[in-house]
Amino acid sequence: MANPARFAEQPKLAWGFYGHRLNLYRDTVPHEGFSIMRRWADRMLRGAFVFTSNVDGQFQKAGFSEDHVHECHGSIHSLQCMNACTNDTWSAEDVLPLVNEKTSELESPMPRCPHCGTLARPNILMFGDWGWVDAPYEKQREGLAGWMSSLTEPVTIELGAGKGLPTVRRFSERYAAQRLIRINL
Ligand SMILES: [Zn+2]
Repeated sequence: MANPARFAEQPKLAWGFYGHRLNLYRDTVPHEGFSIMRRWADRMLRGAFVFTSNVDGQFQKAGFSEDHVHECHGSIHSLQCMNACTNDTWSAEDVLPLVNEKTSELESPMPRCPHCGTLARPNILMFGDWGWVDAPYEKQREGLAGWMSSLTEPVTIELGAGKGLPTVRRFSERYAAQRLIRINL
């Protein structure tokens, strides 16, 4: 499902899958681990900056500052045009997915691009995805780079980052390896 081709070929099923996820993430209460991370961050002179491949928005929900998060694979709480007719992205808050539990298809109205009226999709980097609008995350990346360049003794805490999609591990090893604490069962 995590492929823009599904939105072109089976839009109701693709939106059923992502609508189901959107509902789950909205209902999820960030677990205790987020509070622990925030306590650690609050003890640091310059606070913390989150680099995450998660698209669920849980860091923001747990109280991490919106402008100190880099979501390198995008966010399910934002939408974009399927055809990327503009570089615009917009909040998914008006999308209230109603998913048929038997067919897994979206039953509520399909989200549309406000500019051209074509199908909208989650602003998430998918597999085989050449149409992802990454402008918001480029801005986050610049914010992260600026913040990092202001630090003298950074510590990186890497949590639960696997090798299957090693984006986060690469980041911590290449750019922030002075003092890296890897937590991974
Ligand atoms: Zn459009």
